[in-house]
Amino acid sequence: MHHKLFIIGAGAAGLMAAVVAKDLGIDTAILERNDRIGKKVLMTGDGRCNITNESTATGMDEGVALLRKYHSTQAEFPLGVLEQFGIRQTIDYFFMLGLPLTKLKEGMMYPMSLQAASVLDIFQLALEDREVPVYFNNKVVDVIVSTDHPRFTIVCQTETEERVVYTSEYLFLCAGGSAAPNTGSDGSGYTLAQRLGHSLIEPVPAIVQLRLQYPHMKALSGIKLQGKAHIAVNGEVVRSESGEIHFAEYGLSGPTILQLGREAAYHLAEGDSVTVTVDLMPGRSDEQLVDFLEMHWGIFGHRTVVESFIGILHKKLVPVLLKEAGIDQQPHMLCQDLSWKTKKKFYRLLKHWEFKVIDTNGFANAQTTAGGIDTTELVEGTLESKLVPGLYLAGEVMDVDGDFGGYNLQWAWSSGYVAAKSLAQQVAEGKNQ
Ligand SMILES: Cc1cc2nc3c(=O)[nH]c(=O)nc-3n(C[C@H](O)[C@H](O)[C@H](O)COP(=O)(O)OP(=O)(O)OC[C@H]3O[C@@H](n4cnc5c(N)ncnc54)[C@H](O)[C@@H]3O)c2cc1C
Repeated sequence: MHHKLFIIGAGAAGLMAAVVAKDLGIDTAILERNDRIGKKVLMTGDGRCNITNESTATGMDEGVALLRKYHSTQAEFPLGVLEQFGIRQTIDYFFMLGLPLTKLKEGMMYPMSLQAASVLDIFQLALEDREVPVYFNNKVVDVIVSTDHPRFTIVCQTETEERVVYTSEYLFLCAGGSAAPNTGSDGSGYTLAQRLGHSLIEPVPAIVQLRLQYPHMKALSGIKLQGKAHIAVNGEVVRSESGEIHFAEYGLSGPTILQLGREAAYHLAEGDSVTVTVDLMPGRSDEQLVDFLEMHWGIFGHRTVVESFIGILHKKLVPVLLKEAGIDQQPHMLCQDLSWKTKKKFYRLLKHWEFKVIDTNGFANAQTTAGGIDTTELVEGTLESKLVPGLYLAGEVMDVDGDFGGYNLQWAWSSGYVAAKSLAQQVAEGKNQ
């Protein structure tokens, strides 16, 4: 079977690239190892699909504002893509496909139906309307490049272990990273790119939970609160985030913590000492907290310390804080009897509660991958390989990852769109024919 363009992977980037390429007149087909499109997209945003984030759509400087949400060894690399196809274009593009979006908290945009399945249904219709074939149950295991035509010979393994060969003039590698490998993106995209001569920046899990070494995690499990968290490497804070924090038996989760996962994963892999410090009272400075509790304990000196925290702290936190402060054996201690030394322990715990991070929850539980194919080997702004003419990369497979809040799907849409548009331009100009 021959098509002008084969796309490896019917995930977010591959689907966007296929629709755009076909609309720009390129005979396109997709090879997908699963028996359906977008298995991972279905899981996104808790089944609602957080497609993008409107909070960085700031008009003139949108690209620059958006760039701050991305990470890559080449920090500026995503800009050339985001400036061509950013948040506004994404919202308009989905509207044009028949999928109007709606905004929930913090600029996060979802399909109006709040169902990730709608995104896939719309892509399915778009592929059918444009007659873009998807060859399912085809895992690409090898790609052979020729200087003659056809340029690419793509070797696939089917469900029955049978080998099938496809050919094309152009190839898009949209096989994702290593996060959530049960959805199909198990890192095989890296192997294919490496076989074609590309280098890999060591991938680590990102947007991922933190595993802590702390004896009382079980007692804290289930607590959800608004706080601030700082991740420190060898004692130096490298990133801070505020918002929802969840306590679990293994450690910490919730949007604020997920955001810090990539830093923890990188530094743990390098053998550094990583800690996370939680601020349970982010609305008050250290001094304000001292003033507040001094006044509170002054007024309610006749109440027990446990009673004094009613309405201030989550009930499950109190026994653990008492243990940490060394007064758990005196549960009836009155506030008026608190020593200065014990009070100081409470102040420290409430603003600077430090935990040792021993691991993350790994690729199986991560939402994305930090690291990937080295972007210095791609042409900035077109995403074509500098090593293999006619090969383009899009999505998570390359060394670009975004923050929590819709920025990884945004990268998949933006890079898929730009790769397809760049190829169409190249074909129109008669280059690389
Ligand atoms: C639980 C979860 C929730 C998430 N929620 C959000 C969210 O709400 N918002 C957000 O922005 N991001 C979210 N993400 C991240 C986002 O889903 C990914 O970054 C994005 O899907 C990456 O798109 P992609 O096309 O590069 O890769 P993928 O979507 O992973 O697609 C890659 C495709 O390639 C196929 N494939 C892989 N190897 C081969 C091969 N050798 N041969 C043939 N096919 C192959 C795979 O089967 C897959 O279909 C979430 C991720 C997870 C795991």
